[in-house]
Amino acid sequence: MEEQYCKSSVDVWARSHRPAPAARGNFVELQVSLDDVDFGAVLLDADLRVTFVNSAFRKLWRLSERDCASRPAFVDLMRHGQAALGPSVSAEAFEKHVHATVVRATSGDPSLVDLRLPDGEVLRFQCVALPSGGRMLSYTRVTDIVHRSDELEVLRNAVDTIDLGVVLISDELLVQFVNEKAKRLWGLTDELCRSRLTVVEFITHVRKAGLYGIPDEALEDYVVKRVTIIKLGDPMPLDIPVKDGRTIRAQCTPLIGGGRMLTYTDVTDLVQRARQQELLAITDVLTGLCNRRHLLRLAEAEWARFRRYEQDFSLLYFDIDNFKAINDRFGHDAGDQAIIRAAQVCNKAKRSTDLVGRMGGDEFVVLLPQSDGKATLAFAKRLHAAIRSEPLIIDGAPTNLTISIGIAQAETHLTDVAQLLKLADRRLYRAKEAGRNCTVWCDDADPHRACEDGGVG
Ligand code: GH3
Ligand code: MG
Repeated sequence: MEEQYCKSSVDVWARSHRPAPAARGNFVELQVSLDDVDFGAVLLDADLRVTFVNSAFRKLWRLSERDCASRPAFVDLMRHGQAALGPSVSAEAFEKHVHATVVRATSGDPSLVDLRLPDGEVLRFQCVALPSGGRMLSYTRVTDIVHRSDELEVLRNAVDTIDLGVVLISDELLVQFVNEKAKRLWGLTDELCRSRLTVVEFITHVRKAGLYGIPDEALEDYVVKRVTIIKLGDPMPLDIPVKDGRTIRAQCTPLIGGGRMLTYTDVTDLVQRARQQELLAITDVLTGLCNRRHLLRLAEAEWARFRRYEQDFSLLYFDIDNFKAINDRFGHDAGDQAIIRAAQVCNKAKRSTDLVGRMGGDEFVVLLPQSDGKATLAFAKRLHAAIRSEPLIIDGAPTNLTISIGIAQAETHLTDVAQLLKLADRRLYRAKEAGRNCTVWCDDADPHRACEDGGVG
């Protein structure tokens, strides 16, 4: 039946165009060939009336022999499709489509148009003008391609919307895709993204744009490290400081097929929170100095340097005199102010390389690297004077603070830093016993000499 229709449609076409016998033979051959192809083919005459419909199109369009024999107008063919396959768009949109298609067919516009059928199939339509003045219309099934491209579009939109920079690198280490977030982050234009940059060119672009918040002297090493990570496909995250103060966590994920996915997450708040927590863990909340645990760790490190390089290292232990009386007389807040004052004065008086921490209560320790006992003693004198010179105003009245100090110098007969600390503490105790407001820096000195105002023994 279908073949019959083909023959009759060939005859119809042949009658209307009256080609020369040789040309007619060629044309019949063309139509017989068209009947074998698996895309829909329709031939129209110059008046856009159907002269031939191949078997694939008849199946697609659910056309009967009778539908075709009457040489329907192209417009009616379209309407038949809409009726037979069910409406895929509103009546109004369909009429617009009919009009646009007729315009396209009339002008012989060969541009490709995808027609989406109600059952989800997609046909790629093309109109080609024939030398005779007629038109050949082709309807090729492109459902898989279009669905895949639809899926890609959905994915691309999703990847462009997420709050994560994404850069896809090919197995030849060329930049294949950059999402919107990554473009903004690294100052990449659409044109640059399309230019298939190498990884080195990509990193160099960011560097030249001055976007890395990395000091110049460290930048070269960073670039080499980053390129190596990408080449190796190393998934270890790397935090990149950015010029505007943010921290971007970069991660490289190797992909099946040899490519890489680079992701960039803004971790500024995480990094800041971690830094704050780190700081809190080592800081004494009341004074802002190092806390006991951190100071002991620093003391261990100084002790190790002393053992290794035989550099001088001394330690000064001090405690506020009669502090309980301030608490008792003026209250706990005034006591806190006294502790803060002692911390501030000591912090101001010490060298920048010295380290001070609060051991607890009204006790403090100062680590003095590269200082022998004598130099530390000189500092102790300065500290007594500084504390004396800044009385604390409590309830509008000045209250003089004094401190007692014990000093110990690192020596090889001491086994560890705990012994050094104990020695300084013992001397501090002796300074208290000797009347307070003084310093004891060696075991055999006369303790009474330490009793003079800010004196030492
Ligand atoms: P001494 O001259 O022998 O050192 O006598 P003192 O009165 O200063 O005695 P001590 O050093 O033993 O006093 C420590 C007191 O500090 C005990 C405690 O009640 C008080 N204290 C500990 N921590 C704090 C604090 O954070 N704030 C306040 N206001 N007082 C504290
Ligand atoms: Mg005290």
